[in-house]
Amino acid sequence: MKKFDIAIIGAGPVGLFCANFAHLHGLTSITFDSLKEVGGQPQFLYPNKKISDIPVFDQITGFDLISRLKKSATGKTTFSLNHRVTSIEQEEDKFLIDGDFEVKSVIIATGTGSFKPKKLPLKMDEAIEKRVHYFVQDLAKYAGQTVAVFGGGDSALDWALELAEESNTQVKLIHRRNEFRGLESSIQQLKSLKNVEILTPYLPKTITLRNNQLEVGLKQMGETDIIKRHFDQIIVAYGFRADNSIARKWGINLTNGQIDVTREMATNIPGIYAIGDSATYPGRVPVIGLGFGEAQIAITAIMRSLFPEKTLTIHSTSI
Ligand SMILES: Cc1cc2nc3c(=O)[nH]c(=O)nc-3n(C[C@H](O)[C@H](O)[C@H](O)COP(=O)(O)OP(=O)(O)OC[C@H]3O[C@@H](n4cnc5c(N)ncnc54)[C@H](O)[C@@H]3O)c2cc1C
Repeated sequence: MKKFDIAIIGAGPVGLFCANFAHLHGLTSITFDSLKEVGGQPQFLYPNKKISDIPVFDQITGFDLISRLKKSATGKTTFSLNHRVTSIEQEEDKFLIDGDFEVKSVIIATGTGSFKPKKLPLKMDEAIEKRVHYFVQDLAKYAGQTVAVFGGGDSALDWALELAEESNTQVKLIHRRNEFRGLESSIQQLKSLKNVEILTPYLPKTITLRNNQLEVGLKQMGETDIIKRHFDQIIVAYGFRADNSIARKWGINLTNGQIDVTREMATNIPGIYAIGDSATYPGRVPVIGLGFGEAQIAITAIMRSLFPEKTLTIHSTSI
């Protein structure tokens, strides 16, 4: 049996920072991820995006952020990658993870659980599906093509902006409402670009492959006519469905696929905490910086619970 103070389930940005912060407090940890590489959403969904809301960095790409977090956590936690945690059993004051690892406390940092994108609601055969993408890693492969981006949130705006930087790419941003949910500065930037066309309020209704291009029927909201537009590729940014339903199996309470937590990031099971995008409470926003703070709250709560006799110094400089 391998023993650690805590288990961190999920090695996205929040889990990685959590592992580092746990080490600062002298806690031993094991960090699991179901994928064979750490990094979560920034690593797999937007490695090239220049993130502007991480404190200290003016801008940092998803890839660079994860490289730095990974470097900080290396040697301070034991990683168990390619390992999807499926079982947490409580034994007196201990938890048994997948029958093999014994820990005193558990921190769930599973983000949206599994990355399940909301699909384009159209019937498609294999040849069409090959041109419809939900994950964007290598933007260069879209250079010189006409690419439709479907969606109205930050991801859609980010991908449209990044694609517009590729040489000779024509970007069509298509949303079912006239208003976008993303940053106003991104919308203004997109409107100023010559190779970007914004089509609103349109819903995709049909899709076929014609003359080696996707022919998409777009219906204007409130109208009956359908216009036909042609694209080489489509990127769908309708968001991701939160699916942490596995936590329900562990006896943890969820609301809309996310784990209910207290202000100390505690779940309904004493000793199990949830942080980052896996957690929910009124007013929570899914951003990395907030998740870092939640990791600090959870670790502090765990320290108070495991070592009540210790006078806890919160500042890392005095640990
Ligand atoms: C396109 C896009 C752009 C974004 N831009 C920004 C931005 O500019 N700024 C910002 O702050 N935020 C941004 N976000 C949001 C940000 O990425 C998330 O808030 C952040 O990734 C949450 O981190 P996390 O560690 O909680 O979860 P995640 O990054 O989702 O990582 C969770 C990890 O848990 C693993 N996991 C899941 N289930 C299990 C299991 N059972 N066992 C083991 N491992 C498991 C997953 O494999 C994954 O690696 C963006 C998101 C998207 C999609």
